[in-house]
Amino acid sequence: MYKVGLEQAFGEPVAWGTFWMARTGSTTEVFPMAPFTHERLEWEYETFRFSRDTGLYLPNPGQICSYCSVSEFCYVQSGARADEIPRPWEQWQGNQEGTSAA
Ligand code: SF4
Repeated sequence: MYKVGLEQAFGEPVAWGTFWMARTGSTTEVFPMAPFTHERLEWEYETFRFSRDTGLYLPNPGQICSYCSVSEFCYVQSGARADEIPRPWEQWQGNQEGTSAA
């Protein structure tokens, strides 16, 4: 995101950059930044908006589940409180019904 902002602010391409690793307080190795275009960021944020607005959240279970802050509510992990919230497909059906009625 900073790469695109720098390009827009200064009108010059940003070829290389690093990622800030907040957990360790350091940066990664240097990576080529060419793949991170304005168009790509717009597409990624638009898909996030679409997922949020339609309730389309596909679980991606893996190693991250061991420190996921919502695993208690996750049906994939059979979280202890998973039954307290509607299943994603129940929310999805509700959103689809709302969409078709509009
Ligand atoms: S516990 Fe559930 S919500 Fe959390 S990362 Fe794993 S699959 Fe995703």
